[in-house]
Amino acid sequence: MTEVAATRKLQDIVVVGGGMVGLTQALLLAHQIPDAEITLVESLPVNMQDVRQPSFDARATALSPATVDVLQKLALWPFLESSAQPITRVHVSDRGHVGQTEYRQDENSGRALGYVIENRRFGAELTAACLRTSNISILAPAEVLRVTPVRAGVELVVRQASEHTVLAAQLVIIADGANSPLREKLGIGIDQHDYRQAAVIANLSFSEPHHGAAFERFTEEGPLAILPMVSADGRSQSHRAALVWTRPAAQLEETLGLDDAAFIDQLQARFGYRLGRCSRVGERSSYPLKMVFAREQVRRGIVFMGNAAHFLHPVAGQGFNLALRDCAQLAALLVQAWSRKQPLGDLTLLQEYLSQQAVDQKITAQLSHNFIQVFASHHPLLQLARNAGLLGISLLPGLKQEFFKQMMGQALPRAEFQPIEKQEMVG
Ligand SMILES: Cc1cc2nc3c(=O)[nH]c(=O)nc-3n(C[C@H](O)[C@H](O)[C@H](O)COP(=O)(O)OP(=O)(O)OC[C@H]3O[C@@H](n4cnc5c(N)ncnc54)[C@H](O)[C@@H]3O)c2cc1C
Repeated sequence: MTEVAATRKLQDIVVVGGGMVGLTQALLLAHQIPDAEITLVESLPVNMQDVRQPSFDARATALSPATVDVLQKLALWPFLESSAQPITRVHVSDRGHVGQTEYRQDENSGRALGYVIENRRFGAELTAACLRTSNISILAPAEVLRVTPVRAGVELVVRQASEHTVLAAQLVIIADGANSPLREKLGIGIDQHDYRQAAVIANLSFSEPHHGAAFERFTEEGPLAILPMVSADGRSQSHRAALVWTRPAAQLEETLGLDDAAFIDQLQARFGYRLGRCSRVGERSSYPLKMVFAREQVRRGIVFMGNAAHFLHPVAGQGFNLALRDCAQLAALLVQAWSRKQPLGDLTLLQEYLSQQAVDQKITAQLSHNFIQVFASHHPLLQLARNAGLLGISLLPGLKQEFFKQMMGQALPRAEFQPIEKQEMVG
């Protein structure tokens, strides 16, 4: 390694990773603590015209109503709303069995059940918002090579071009993704469950308009989700949808290698014709599916966020929504600590954050996991139970409400959004 060039001045907070979670976390903190100096370090170039971070690839994300509330408080929603498709109903069914349930907007006080947005669009607006926020500095492309706790906080060695610098911070929030190189460097292990499956992603067009309907369909080989997307012109009835199709790892190559017509045939054999004929399938990509939890999410001066803290099966659409609830909870506690002049990296404070989020993390992970395990089973008793479960959910309004409330991020109390007034500079 070349010599470290200089020690930069103390930052209040450094966020490592400019993916969906790192950018949102930086915005939440910058808005609520306007006097805090926040530095975000991202190893890829950060540019709103050409977003390259892996979070912002060709996927689409289902944002829960709780997530949209946070984006509204950040004044970001007006930039996103016209590109976001409201979900008016969610239909859950089990292929070849009678059990099914549906949840509609009118059962949620008329409020959309969520919104679907293309990740690229979301990334462009998150990036633009960070670039125009005066107390966020972005170092990119720049890679954090090392994080070391020191007496007054944390030191980070950052490589930018061929230069190495040291950043000192009260707190570092590490959102460097599911494989989290820094988690590994800090010697933090993981608990993981490999589903031996992969998610195949593609954008689709159907002959019938979706009218905002989202579908979760369970098949013998794993679940598939079809999420409604806005039309290309943003005005007419939309026929566009995003596919998340779970395939057994052993069949992945075959599925990816199918020509469009064969891909559509296989898909429709599983999904049916609820939206008519699928007339177009876009480029396909795939993601290996695991559930991963970091064995430690906090240390003195350090918090892991987003995929670096927990990675969930994507079919229930919970990963980012859960991470955002974590980010909001951490921000709420840091606001209080800032007002009390308490060090932001204080271990007791960070442990309090984790204990406040532990229940939400556990329930959400279990919900996503059970979705896969129960519905993947060929065992006749489990098949009977899941049909009874879906019928039960559909027949018992209270149960249905609870199930969907958790999926929408509305089941547990939420962190307050409580900005501190910016202090006038003295002298
Ligand atoms: C197929 C699929 C569909 C999904 N759908 C949904 C959904 O509908 N709803 C939902 O809520 N969630 C969904 N998710 C989950 C969601 O995508 C993740 O929660 C989100 O992408 C996590 O982002 P992140 O910022 O934590 O990590 P990442 O996107 O991996 O970002 C990490 C960033 O850190 C940077 N980095 C890494 N190391 C360093 C370093 N040393 N120095 C500086 N920078 C570094 C990387 O370049 C990268 O930009 C889905 C996930 C998948 C796979």
